[in-house]
Amino acid sequence: MADPITPVLTKRWLSPNSWQIGTYEALEGYTAVRKALAGTPEQLVQVVKDSGLRGRGGAGFPAGIKWSFMPPNFDKPHYLVINADEGEPGTCKDIPLMMADPHSLIEGCIIASYAMRSNHCFIYVRGEALHCIRRLNAAVREAEAAGYLGENILGSGFDLKITVHAGAGAYICGEETALLDSLEGRRGQPRLKPPFPAAAGLYAAPTTVNNVETIASAPFIVNGGSSWFREMGREKSPGPKIYSISGHVEKPGQYECPLGTTLRELLDMAGGMKDGIPLKFWTPGGSSTPMFTAEHLDVPLDFEGAAEAGSMLGTTAVQVFNETVSVPWAVMKWTQFYEHESCGKCTPCREGTYWLAQILERMVEGHGTEEDIDTLLDVCDNILGRSFCALGDGAVSPIQSGIKYFRDEFLALCEANKRELVGAQA
Ligand code: NAD
Ligand code: SF4
Repeated sequence: MADPITPVLTKRWLSPNSWQIGTYEALEGYTAVRKALAGTPEQLVQVVKDSGLRGRGGAGFPAGIKWSFMPPNFDKPHYLVINADEGEPGTCKDIPLMMADPHSLIEGCIIASYAMRSNHCFIYVRGEALHCIRRLNAAVREAEAAGYLGENILGSGFDLKITVHAGAGAYICGEETALLDSLEGRRGQPRLKPPFPAAAGLYAAPTTVNNVETIASAPFIVNGGSSWFREMGREKSPGPKIYSISGHVEKPGQYECPLGTTLRELLDMAGGMKDGIPLKFWTPGGSSTPMFTAEHLDVPLDFEGAAEAGSMLGTTAVQVFNETVSVPWAVMKWTQFYEHESCGKCTPCREGTYWLAQILERMVEGHGTEEDIDTLLDVCDNILGRSFCALGDGAVSPIQSGIKYFRDEFLALCEANKRELVGAQA
């Protein structure tokens, strides 16, 4: 059982006018930036490294190590880019964070920019979240007026400008290099890696792309220290995490817990299964992570625990489905999403997601055959590991895991079709 924690990232969310600078400052806001600017960038990178903070966008790459990849020279400007394009199905943590506590992200941006010697930070927000873009812009103006942004911040000699940039609603622009293309004003498509953004990112200059929740954690680490941060969560996955729970639960929403919390514990907090109808399947971190079943209620939801049990932590978007939901139908809906969002750059994903969606639609409409199940798995094998970016791999997760745990349901659809065909011939 994971120990409950005193809220960290969400601690101000329920305060009146939590998004305003006055509330933020009254609740310890902008105290970490003073400490940070009094030290050296190297000290900051070390504190974040020591904390063990791992990227909260889904991949879990150690944040301090990523920061340390930024080169020491200044032939070109350095950039910090915040990935606020939260688009993974079921994921709803970054937008609530930016709505409730935008200054924690801004303070994190100042700290991270100072650590990486960047004087310009971009926050790339998904275009549909207009309300969030407005709130962030208002918070940036408040921070500028208070002297936390602009030139010579708090007399430190450090300058920083923050630009809030609206995306245009493409899922692929959450992939960091497609995001950079989009930010440069081009069609968002993934770039070949390496070079990683620290070597050649925005405008081919050294860039670090970090998720909202990752950067919003920085002020707490600076104030609390790396040992305090490590007291929460698990050894290789320390710290608090915002789990977004949706679907058939009594109280869907965001729950901040230590990394390693199980679905059983999350369900307790979320009031249990809606109307008491039993759990059938769930995703630990969005639809790109292989689904789990009721057998996995006690899997610790941290980077290692989810992987050891055969899935991934991903974005901690816990989508819960009860017994009334057809797995082939849900898998079809997710696959239609990936087909629609495939950027078309590489053949396995562009063609494969098209065929996967066609086959699943045929099966769900009652015209599938048993061979279709093998064809689905075959197409998945030809996408997995053969696509240009993680979207292709993510697209096959629901299909492979759906067939692994619920093959009988796919078969039943085909059997029903077979009976109808035999009946028609008789
Ligand atoms: P990745 O593992 O390729 O990279 C993660 C980060 O680490 C990147 O910033 C990358 O530049 C850096 N990195 C990795 N190896 C490096 C190296 N050798 N040198 C320097 N930097 C290195 O993963 P990814 O493709 O960026 O992201 C995949 C994840 O995104 C999935 O796990 C999925 O859960 C998540 N995702 C999130 C959303 C969302 O809405 N938040 C949407 C879709 C997918
Ligand atoms: Fe585009 Fe899909 Fe290829 Fe990624 S895997 S580059 S989204 S076509």
